[in-house]
Amino acid sequence: MTDHDVIIIGSGPAGYTAAIYTARAGLRPIVFAGAITAGGALMNTTEVENFPGFPEGVMGPDLMQQMQAQAERFGAEVRFQDVTAVDLTGDMKSVTLDDDEVLTAKSVILALGSEYKKLGIDSEAKFSGRGVSYCATCDGFFFRGQHIAVVGGGDSAMEEATFLSRFGSKVTIIHRRDELRASKIMAKRAMDDPKISFAWNSEVAAIHGDTKVTGLTLRDTVTGETRELDATGLFVAIGHLPRTGVLGDQVALNDEDYVVVEHPTTKTSVPGVFACGDVVDHIYRQAITAAGTGCAAALDAERYLASLEDPDALPLGADDEVAEATDDDAPLTPDGPSPVPATA
Ligand code: NAP
Repeated sequence: MTDHDVIIIGSGPAGYTAAIYTARAGLRPIVFAGAITAGGALMNTTEVENFPGFPEGVMGPDLMQQMQAQAERFGAEVRFQDVTAVDLTGDMKSVTLDDDEVLTAKSVILALGSEYKKLGIDSEAKFSGRGVSYCATCDGFFFRGQHIAVVGGGDSAMEEATFLSRFGSKVTIIHRRDELRASKIMAKRAMDDPKISFAWNSEVAAIHGDTKVTGLTLRDTVTGETRELDATGLFVAIGHLPRTGVLGDQVALNDEDYVVVEHPTTKTSVPGVFACGDVVDHIYRQAITAAGTGCAAALDAERYLASLEDPDALPLGADDEVAEATDDDAPLTPDGPSPVPATA
């Protein structure tokens, strides 16, 4: 067993930003990045055009590698392991890893992210990796010259379909309503693509095939009528579910299993446990908003740890004197003054 000040579980923009801030604060965070999911959702993205500071765009995996390197530069330890169990109840929190190692820490930052939502129909799991996919950038190449179906009406579905139209002979977006949820710009990009067409008011009723997908049955969500679609690829882009399974009932979750925090802070129902990124946010779900809450979680954890040393330390809040602090108050580091938490 090893004691730490702060353990960060998750390594998307939220986890790595929390790592950068806690590392710069000298807390030597240990980050459990995940064995397979390291880097989070951006690892499955192509070009990210809306992360500030990259006017020409940046590839998702490159952005995550840079965040990791930035955290490590300040002393964060990044380990590519999964957390299989947690005990967050006591003053000392414990985290069990996939090799049964147990580590303890005074504070834990949950940056667990989310996973792809499944359709939940028969044979979806059977054909996963054999025609059914949740990641166009990972698998699109395998569907060259084929008719590809994409399920969903949000930005993810538009993005996946637009990307897949490079490979497929045609792409059909299957949406359960007659109106898209996607942003105007993403919807327009898909609608303007001559290879993309829409199956409105439609859902996938069945996936056909023997060893791989050979076709789909669609059901009209208004009339109930069914029809066949000769697609041989099915990309599911219907949103995400928070990865809160490992938490059990130790931390308060909402009806959709997202971690509940005391907005605008990142405090969970358990003292010393903070949550950030997609495991909290079911509304914005952007890399930049995840990074922002990762920063907030780091500052909240830093404050919590300081209050353990000095119980009279003020909690971070609107009236906190930190809000008034200036660079003149910041301790000097080899790189110059540390950023003042409330204004950094
Ligand atoms: P989303 O906005 O929640 O959209 C999910 C879509 O899937 C909705 O159209 C929904 O239909 C449909 N759906 C949900 N469950 C379904 C089911 N069981 N069967 C069939 N259809 C189902 O999720 P998202 O597209 O992943 O986007 C999430 C967030 O990430 C958004 O804020 C989005 O802006 C952002 N995002 C941004 C970008 C970008 O800017 N590059 C790219 C991707 C995502 P209904 O509309 O009927 O509910």
